[in-house]
Amino acid sequence: MNAVLKTTPDPSLDGMHEAFARQRAAFAADMNPSRAIRLERLDRLFAMTERIAPALEAAVSADFGHRSAHVTRLADVMMVTAAIKHARRHLKSWMKVRRAPTALAFRPGSNRIMPQPIGVVGVVSPWNYPYQLAMGPAIAAIGAGNRVMIKPSELTPRVAELMRQAVAESFAPEELTVVTGGAEIGTAFVAMPFDHLLFTGSTAVGRQVALAAAANLTPVTLELGGKSPAILSPQVDMAQAASRLAMGKLFNAGQTCIAPDYVAVQRHAVDAFVHAMRREVERQYPAIDANPDYTAIVSDRHFERLQGLLDDARQRGARVVSLHPEGLGTASGTRKLGPALVLNVTDDMKIMQEEIFGPLLPVMAYDTIEDVISYVNRHERPLALYWFGTYRADRDKVLARTISGGVTLNDCMWHFGQEELPFGGIGASGMGAYHGEYGFRTFSKHKPVFHQAALSGTRLLQPPYGRTFDFM
Ligand code: NAD
Repeated sequence: MNAVLKTTPDPSLDGMHEAFARQRAAFAADMNPSRAIRLERLDRLFAMTERIAPALEAAVSADFGHRSAHVTRLADVMMVTAAIKHARRHLKSWMKVRRAPTALAFRPGSNRIMPQPIGVVGVVSPWNYPYQLAMGPAIAAIGAGNRVMIKPSELTPRVAELMRQAVAESFAPEELTVVTGGAEIGTAFVAMPFDHLLFTGSTAVGRQVALAAAANLTPVTLELGGKSPAILSPQVDMAQAASRLAMGKLFNAGQTCIAPDYVAVQRHAVDAFVHAMRREVERQYPAIDANPDYTAIVSDRHFERLQGLLDDARQRGARVVSLHPEGLGTASGTRKLGPALVLNVTDDMKIMQEEIFGPLLPVMAYDTIEDVISYVNRHERPLALYWFGTYRADRDKVLARTISGGVTLNDCMWHFGQEELPFGGIGASGMGAYHGEYGFRTFSKHKPVFHQAALSGTRLLQPPYGRTFDFM
């Protein structure tokens, strides 16, 4: 039986390998597409995105159990169209062959740096922003002149199928293609000899992707997760910080890689923080269960995992404080988990060890800012770090003495939306970066080219060496 299974070709795997071979051949036939060709591809992606936006909003909501069309419009559709507009505006400058300085000894020779497409790029994407995290890297790779294959998450199957169909209608398979399937397809996908792989997902799977890529010496960009701290400094506008933290934590019900994962609050300010958060959560979400703005947890497994984090924390002495009159429950079985703070947390609790990815926010009481810095540095390097306050010396100390993928000061998450800034993790939260020009660079070879001149001093370095060294 096993022998039969092994020798029966899997049509989806065959199709994937065939698509890869076609992309390779197409790249070899046009290794440096003109700006006009790249812009036309980006324009097609823009038009496709606008065309499928309503269907995408419905598909995301169905896959999640419920997600507001506004959230999808903002985080999936508008992020993608903004990235395309930005790339369109700057592509000419990014593609320029640039002069580099030349040392006196090598003049009148001259140096240039030539950005060049690298070939076929693989993109593996997660479920939480299923369109943006698939198409964002694709925009950068297409702008850089490459062919692109995308493997979306199987946890959002309607979105994956919608993307597959829409891309097949708008693009030739050798330009851009979407391969659907679960972990088995994912494993085979990342084993293909791509010229670059960008993976967005969990740290555990990221490790496996890096191992698979190493076999082909395929360079990887890993956009992973982790526990991103928010630090409320002693001098803080509590109402403003609570308002912005509530938005950052509860957008997509906390299912965001850069959501604040825990918050450090000065010990004597914890009660004021709880009070301010309650007020803000009720203002932003007058209802939970029946509120179209509040996103459901993506699957039963994830919902149970979050309940498990709360149970474990309670058993180890934490106090769970619901932030909403509706409490934590989902009376109607909608998989909507009410927002909560978790107080009196300790390091042995799972909620302080695992990435939460839900609307739960542990509060870590601290005595000095030094204690917080040392706590952050004893743990894995986070994807994001948030600092709230007015005291510059504290801000500069935190910035200088912590290492994280990115930082937003006095708010959450907005560094992600800056096309002019590189986005990426460090250590366990990832490696490499993209967005804007940084994405273009990730998917280009910046080829150094030295132009020798007709007359050149390097002639003096030709043998026989006895005479040459008399000059030196
Ligand atoms: P995941 O790691 O479970 O899956 C991500 C993708 O990898 C999916 O497409 C999946 O099918 C595929 N996959 C699974 N096993 C594979 C394997 N062995 N080989 C190759 N591919 C495989 O992650 P997820 O649950 O979809 O997403 C949540 C995680 O992603 C969180 O940790 C979150 O922090 C992280 N994330 C990071 C960013 C970022 O930009 N850094 C953005 C969003 C999410």
